[in-house]
Order: sequence, then C-alpha cells, then structure tokens
Amino acid sequence: MIHYNEIKENTKNTTLVVVSKQQPLEKIQTYYDLDERIFAENRAQELKQKATLLPKDIQWHFIGHLQRNKVKDIVPYVCCIQSLDSIRLAKEINKECKKLNKVMPCLVEFHFAKEDTNKTGIDPKDAIAFIEAVKHLEHIELVGMMTMGPHTENEEEIRNTFKAANKLFKTLQEKYNFQILSMGMSSDYKLAIENGSTMVRIGSKLFKD
Ligand SMILES: *Cc1c(COP(=O)(O)O)cnc(C)c1O
Repeated sequence: MIHYNEIKENTKNTTLVVVSKQQPLEKIQTYYDLDERIFAENRAQELKQKATLLPKDIQWHFIGHLQRNKVKDIVPYVCCIQSLDSIRLAKEINKECKKLNKVMPCLVEFHFAKEDTNKTGIDPKDAIAFIEAVKHLEHIELVGMMTMGPHTENEEEIRNTFKAANKLFKTLQEKYNFQILSMGMSSDYKLAIENGSTMVRIGSKLFKD
C-alpha cells in the first residue's frame, strides 16, 4: 500500500487500472474500499472466480493473451478486453457477445518493442488492415489500443516506444475515433503518462507492502 498515494497523485488525469492478478480477494477488497473500481486480470478462470466473489460493480478488464476457447468464460464478466491481437479472436468475442446481446469494448494490442519477439500483439504496420478487418463486427467496439513498454532499464528506449505508440494512437484517434491509449505499468507508468497514456495498468507497485 505504501505507493498508493503517490500513484494516485501521479495518475490524476489518467485512468488507473488496478492489476489484481495473483492477488487474494482481501487485498483486492482493500482497494475497492478505497474506491477503486477498475481491476484487471490476465487469466480467464481467475477472473471468473474473482468476479463471482467480489462486488458486482467492479469493472473487470482482461489484459492477458486470450485463448479463443476461454472467451465464453470471461465475456459475461468483463467490460473491456485490452488484448485483442488477432482476427480469429475478434470473431470469437463477437460470436460469444452476440449470444449475450452485448457489445464488448476492446483495445487493439500492439507490439512495438522489436527485440522481444515472443510478445503478443499486432505489428503497428498492420494496424489499418487489422482494424478494417474487424471494425464491421457488430458486437465489438474498438475503443482504443494497448501496448507494453520494452523489457529494459534504458529510459530512452522506453520513451521511444511510448512516443511511437502515441503517434499511432493520434492517427487512430482521428481515423477511427480511438479514445484510450493503455500503456504504462509499475516500472514505467510515469514515462507512459508523459508520452500520452490515458490509462495505466499497475499491479506490483500497488500490492507490494
Ligand atoms: C501484469 C501486467 C501489468 C502490471 O504489471 P506490474 O509491473 O505488476 O505493474 C500490466 N499489463 C499487463 C498486460 C500485465 O500482464
């Protein structure tokens, strides 16, 4: 909890998503009691379980790589899928949301950090083609994009990635009315905010004692 006030101060003009993955219910409830309402998980089963047990007005976001066969487990509980990274996944979300008569807000996940080859996410140069291929799906609403900074201590490299993401965001804001740029985690959220992030996803820095 020791960093909570500092994080709140630094995220005054940004949406704070509390990443509660691997955290016990009591600790999540503590942040709920402090009026946090947006929480994120990266595993389908864990999300479902927590959503069933915790207060119903929590807005759950899904942030992990999502397998198509898990989509049906989470769509009843989440209000945003931040990790849309393939056309097949988009079609599956569309199909399951149609059954629930629901439109799912989604963020397109992009992969900027070139050196991390095993990371998920759409290549930025395929952005327009990807969006054109999924935007007609009636039960998906593309509301923004998400990205992760590179795994490095090198601030300049992180800043360059965030600048590139912000540049793409500006384009997509204009062309497709994107509203959300989700970038920044415990270690790099300040750099992300300096470079245009509208939503940060913070886990370890909030939950470490
Ligand atoms: C775990 C995770 C976070 C939070 O990371 P911390 O370093 O714990 O703040 C943010 N985004 C995604 C996609 C994650 O998987």
